[in-house]
Amino acid sequence: MKYFSENYGVLLNYIGGNYIEASSSRYLQSFDPGLGKVIAEVPISSKEDVDKAVSSALEAFNKWSNLPILDRLQYLVKLKIIIEERIDDLVFMISQNVGKTVREGRGEIQRTIEAIDSALGIPHLFMTVRKIMNIVKAEPEIDMEMVREPIGVFAIISPFNFPIMIPMWFIPMAVTLGNTVVVKPSELDPVPITFFMRLFKEAGYPDGVVNLVNGDASTSQYLIDHKDVAGVAFVGSTPVAEKIYSSACSRGKRALCQAGAKNPVILMPDAVPEPSIENIVSGFFDMAGQRCLAPGLLITVGEAYEKFKHLIIERVKKIKVGYQLLNETGIGPLASLRGREKVVKMINRALEEGAEILLDGQGYRVEEKYSRGFYLGPTVLDNVTPDMEIAHEEVFGPVMPIIRASTFEEALEIANSRQYGNTGTIYTSSGKWAREFARRMNAGNIAVNMAVAQPNQFFPFPGRRKSFYGVLHGQIDALDFFTDRKVIMQRWW
Ligand code: NAD
Repeated sequence: MKYFSENYGVLLNYIGGNYIEASSSRYLQSFDPGLGKVIAEVPISSKEDVDKAVSSALEAFNKWSNLPILDRLQYLVKLKIIIEERIDDLVFMISQNVGKTVREGRGEIQRTIEAIDSALGIPHLFMTVRKIMNIVKAEPEIDMEMVREPIGVFAIISPFNFPIMIPMWFIPMAVTLGNTVVVKPSELDPVPITFFMRLFKEAGYPDGVVNLVNGDASTSQYLIDHKDVAGVAFVGSTPVAEKIYSSACSRGKRALCQAGAKNPVILMPDAVPEPSIENIVSGFFDMAGQRCLAPGLLITVGEAYEKFKHLIIERVKKIKVGYQLLNETGIGPLASLRGREKVVKMINRALEEGAEILLDGQGYRVEEKYSRGFYLGPTVLDNVTPDMEIAHEEVFGPVMPIIRASTFEEALEIANSRQYGNTGTIYTSSGKWAREFARRMNAGNIAVNMAVAQPNQFFPFPGRRKSFYGVLHGQIDALDFFTDRKVIMQRWW
């Protein structure tokens, strides 16, 4: 596969350490969304392709899982060095295929490296193995110990918005703990992760430890159904997460599914104006709002509305929408035309339901030569009420719906009545309100004066209600998710 290019042709799968053609003759198109131009053809891998990838992972598992953990760790160290050498190629591919800016692409690779840093501590996690000697009454010759073993082949099914980082939330932990993986990336923008596979080869990973099949929902389903796939790590939208979680669990597989969000931000009148506005605006609009951690709803309390509304609008007006690879661009296009249409429809339905437009992104014009791209300017909606669709469904676009609440209690009630539970944020200069919010907001990640409540990789990434399906998380719970326990009891007379 080529380095950064204007066209990548037909994408290949990565199976058994080689790039190989998919057997399927069905293809989808992957775009540079800033140009509205096709840059790759994505094969919809068939059951046969999935079988090949899983067999390769299973075959590699037997040898890989028997390597000492410290040996497995060395590959990860090499991988980190290679990623650092290839940062520019990776960043430009991400930016080109997803539509995020180069700055945002760099952020993604930075967090990919953090995922590796966090997995480098795995031998310490392993120290939770326990042995108790002389445990049975009147039989002092009996000892019992609990060990952990890798499980087998894991499927990793990922969304479009972080094509490298999200698979890398799981791959380092899964494989260093002795498992092997098959990745099924989003069909929208699989160029960067398909390219990334070669870095595993360069780092010396044995063939078959990491595999990738391109494809769509049907390819995911073949993987989930496969008898030799032991577990599934999924990140994507809530309806798909629900389906995959029940499908995997009903087949006796372990699954964790990180899903959609509607993250409320409460703006108190005592918030510090200058940094708060800057922070809120970048939270809503960076990556054109296509982050599961992006704020989805601004709830102003009391006089915060009058105090901050104009400052917010003035700041949002300054955002420069444009081609993602240009330095001066503030936000790029949406990743797909379908995504853009969905956002526009949601804005229009909100207007029909009585919302008022303060800033209309549909009128935003980019330079003529980019006019075929999937751009949408920042949109600010006022007079939103809690029952409107735009107030409780995920938009995944550059939209800020504003709800006015009279009191902190009312704002908290609105925030907590969303059906999701990824994050919640409060802007205030009062420790009392911050503490009250942190204690009573029903979400996995709580932030004070930070629009994007993103935990560092060393922490878990918890989500509640319709934002997370499962019990264990792929980061802090990696040991429990990616290994199985075994109790060994022995008697030596
Ligand atoms: P999506 O659910 O459409 O697709 C995610 C993956 O699932 C893709 O690989 C896709 O091919 C596959 N898929 C789609 N339909 C399927 C089906 N019916 N059966 C099996 N597989 C299927 O999500 P997306 O549009 O790519 O990503 C955006 C969503 O992801 C948003 O809802 C966002 O909030 C969420 N997300 C969540 C997190 C998190 O950590 N909670 C992180 C990033 C993105």
